[in-house]
Amino acid sequence: MPLTRWLAEQAWLPDHAAPTPDVLIEAEDGRFTAVTPLARGASPHTGVEVLAEAVRLPGLTLPGLANAHSHAFHRALRGRTHGGRGDFWSWRDVMYDVAGRLDPDSYLALARAAYAEMALSGVTCVGEFHYLHHGPDGHPYDDPNAMGAALVEAAAQAGIRITLLDACYLTASVAGEPLAGTQRRFGDGDALRWADRVDGFRPAGAHALRGAAIHSVRAVPADQLATVAGWAYRQGAPLHVHLSEQPAENDACRTVHGRTPTGLLADRGVLGPDVTAVHATHPTSADLALLAEHRTGVCLCPTTERDLADGIGPARLMADAGIPLSLGSDSHAVVDLFEEARAVELDERLRTRRRGHFTAAALRDAATVTGHAALGWADAGRIAVGERADLVTVRLDSPRTAGVPPVGVFFAATAADVDQVVVDGRQVVRDGRHLTVDVPVELRAAIVAVTGA
Ligand SMILES: [Zn+2]
Repeated sequence: MPLTRWLAEQAWLPDHAAPTPDVLIEAEDGRFTAVTPLARGASPHTGVEVLAEAVRLPGLTLPGLANAHSHAFHRALRGRTHGGRGDFWSWRDVMYDVAGRLDPDSYLALARAAYAEMALSGVTCVGEFHYLHHGPDGHPYDDPNAMGAALVEAAAQAGIRITLLDACYLTASVAGEPLAGTQRRFGDGDALRWADRVDGFRPAGAHALRGAAIHSVRAVPADQLATVAGWAYRQGAPLHVHLSEQPAENDACRTVHGRTPTGLLADRGVLGPDVTAVHATHPTSADLALLAEHRTGVCLCPTTERDLADGIGPARLMADAGIPLSLGSDSHAVVDLFEEARAVELDERLRTRRRGHFTAAALRDAATVTGHAALGWADAGRIAVGERADLVTVRLDSPRTAGVPPVGVFFAATAADVDQVVVDGRQVVRDGRHLTVDVPVELRAAIVAVTGA
């Protein structure tokens, strides 16, 4: 790719507490080659001709946002499960109904539209926690990784990067009950067969990475946890695990194993610096100490936790312990990393009835560099020389953001304010429109195809 230059009215550079005005940003072959705040004075990069040809980016330009926890097909449930009573478990029944109807073609169409919605909201990389592997009766497709390949292709077509976190899902409960009904599509039989299948998968495209997931302590027996963790460790791949999303999971784990889910993972050698616990909404203080000791990260999904009435994770205690925090939209009731980020702060306020727990820069890091790192992309999420050239420009003249100081964007902007998105040096969204996907039309068609209405 040729050299591209942008002139950002405001850009939020790494390790800065607030954005910097008038920054010249240059990239070549998908990486930043120069980042020059013009206020520092003249340099070879800032000649009149250079500035004249630079693409203007009015508003605030951020690094690419990372959506570290996604189940793409949950997008079909938006607005269909929110009005009634119930809890996570009743919501899950509806989710299984949609999961039962997907095949590789319909999943490609749905995920392409869902990922394009993410691109519109400024997401440049998604962590897809993938457990819908097999055909409706639980038998593998001719290509046993056909569903994973569909997700990788969907991300390519939507113009974003993906880490396919292939989830091992073997049992229906901590006590080891067998998978039943739709759940049979998730299972590989045992962890060794899971590893065989994942070993055989070579995602097509430089936009994709392979990762692993333990669905939860409900879904992988204790004596098979190390097989999954060992595979990830040998591959140098990120490993994600749903952890303590509901008190019921903690209670069942204590009953069966005599310890918390975090304690069980620690005992079995699962925790480590390339591991991300998703949710961790109901940890004990000993659990937090274990996560911190092993330098394991936590991916918070506040809008999903809110929607499913799961509770509020202790984000400030986690950060105080040194646990890296990332963000995910998970069930896609909302796809808006600004909303996820400010919820980390606002939920703490509701819990403590005090304000000011996280700085704006800390929320930005959770939405950007920490999320990319949790997905195995250590060279993304910062506007700095040598990093992947992802740029997300947020309008500062919309009804929501007019008059807002740039540092206040994470408390004011929504996904609808994202105007320009560049992924690996390539423009994906221009003037608020996805360049290749008609997002509302494709979402509607894909959702009607799998829900029937
Ligand atoms: Zn999830």
